[in-house]
Amino acid sequence: MNGGFMFRRGIVIALLVAVSTWSVGCGSTQRIAPQKHVPVAKRPTPPPATSTPKVASTPPAKAPVTSAPAKPAPSAPTSTAPTTPRGDLVGARIVVDAGHGGTDPGTKGLSSAPEKTITLSIAKELAAELEDRGARVTMTRTRDVFIELERRAATADKTSADLLVSVHADSHADRSIAGATIYIARGATARSKRVADAVLRSFKAAGIATRGVRNADFRVLAGHRRPSILVECGYLTNPTDAKNLGSEAYRDKIATVIASGIADGI
Ligand SMILES: [Zn+2]
Repeated sequence: MNGGFMFRRGIVIALLVAVSTWSVGCGSTQRIAPQKHVPVAKRPTPPPATSTPKVASTPPAKAPVTSAPAKPAPSAPTSTAPTTPRGDLVGARIVVDAGHGGTDPGTKGLSSAPEKTITLSIAKELAAELEDRGARVTMTRTRDVFIELERRAATADKTSADLLVSVHADSHADRSIAGATIYIARGATARSKRVADAVLRSFKAAGIATRGVRNADFRVLAGHRRPSILVECGYLTNPTDAKNLGSEAYRDKIATVIASGIADGI
């Protein structure tokens, strides 16, 4: 906890009021592109009472931006993390959204694990890598729980995020369809476009098949006012993508690719 925590908490409450007011009158939150794996909110269980869970589960682990102490361990294995934090994201506020969760498994396809498990694995590693680079990261979920889309989107406004990145995996009736796709909202900010292009380049540089940058008003993209991208990391209905995404090493690679793209484009 740093000294500004209580102060920031006050701001968050004020923002909550402002955001809820804005949401009522903002048509953009209603314009949601049809996509099978981004469901309309259900309410099987109430969302957790805690606000914006942080990457680390222990209070002291979310380090201030100053000369960061040791990297917080709980969020991801350290083996694949960069040995030298580059510091190229110092001060950047980034929301990492692991798609689906809890009663919403996302797509299943051919993989051994449902989409919600794969997205959480990538998101945790991504959060760790972004923190290594100096970013201040908030995760919309750090465990297998259902979080409503509106709440995920609101986190971007509440934290005044410089970027929200939502992690998903795709599905298609045609099993030959493969590759990563980056989505931005139709009215995306210049930063959103820049980051999306940079993440796409990063995928290509890593030799991973891509399907370009596309526009869609998913709620996590269009339901708030901050820059944002949604990364479909591959198709769980494609045998190769599904096998790759079932591997922790590959998921960590994806996280590195996304982190690198964010650092280049933000
Ligand atoms: Zn999804």
